[in-house]
Amino acid sequence: MKIIYSKKFEQNYCTNPVENPDRVKLPAQELQAFEFLESEPASLEDIWRVHGKEHVENVKYQGLFEAASLAAGGAILAAEKALEDEPTFALIRPPGHHASANRSWGLCFFNNMAIAVQRIRPKAKRVLIVDIDLHFGDGTVSIFRGDSEVKIINPGCIDADFEYLNLNANGYMKQVENAFKGFDFDIVGVSAGFDTYIEDWGKVLKTEDYRKIGRIIHDFSQRCGGKRFAILEGGYNQDLRYNIESFIEGFE
Ligand SMILES: [Zn+2]
Repeated sequence: MKIIYSKKFEQNYCTNPVENPDRVKLPAQELQAFEFLESEPASLEDIWRVHGKEHVENVKYQGLFEAASLAAGGAILAAEKALEDEPTFALIRPPGHHASANRSWGLCFFNNMAIAVQRIRPKAKRVLIVDIDLHFGDGTVSIFRGDSEVKIINPGCIDADFEYLNLNANGYMKQVENAFKGFDFDIVGVSAGFDTYIEDWGKVLKTEDYRKIGRIIHDFSQRCGGKRFAILEGGYNQDLRYNIESFIEGFE
């Protein structure tokens, strides 16, 4: 198990006070026992596989290109290592799952997961994305719409209109298990948001539930030789570090 990180993620680029450097800095301290790999920026070619040139220019104009491309590069490294049978967790920011090809919102600029998936597609044809963030990953869904070889599951969400099932932790866990039914996949990518946490906006999952979710994904990923990676999306409570650690305990 490797952690993908860079000290550069600790820069304060001030998009919104909730999406602050401590979101990665504190988990990085908590995870010191693991080996860290340095995130490198994604290339423009990697980004253009997913995003329109105008959108890329817009991110540059906002002064966020450096931060956003570094996060996307971290996701790419996580996916590539997973293909080499090394499970990974990319401790990256800004998050990405609300970014679609030509638009971004919700603290996201480039879709880190989609950029990573498109980069590894030649080697991994069928990809299962499990998005455990509280919010519906509308950007990722829109990018892969019509692509029958990428399946995306957002447990807890009914649809893009942000209706949520009134789930308890067990119901949520069942939906994570259901994600693995009826689809053969070559790799599993997890959009790992932690805002469904009981003390965060979602108010459902406890810290130990993230270990169980990590373990469910670990177990089902054995169907594709254990090829699995996770990248950080949301999660805004100060306990984020413990929730990430708990997820990794199950996932590794
Ligand atoms: Zn979220």
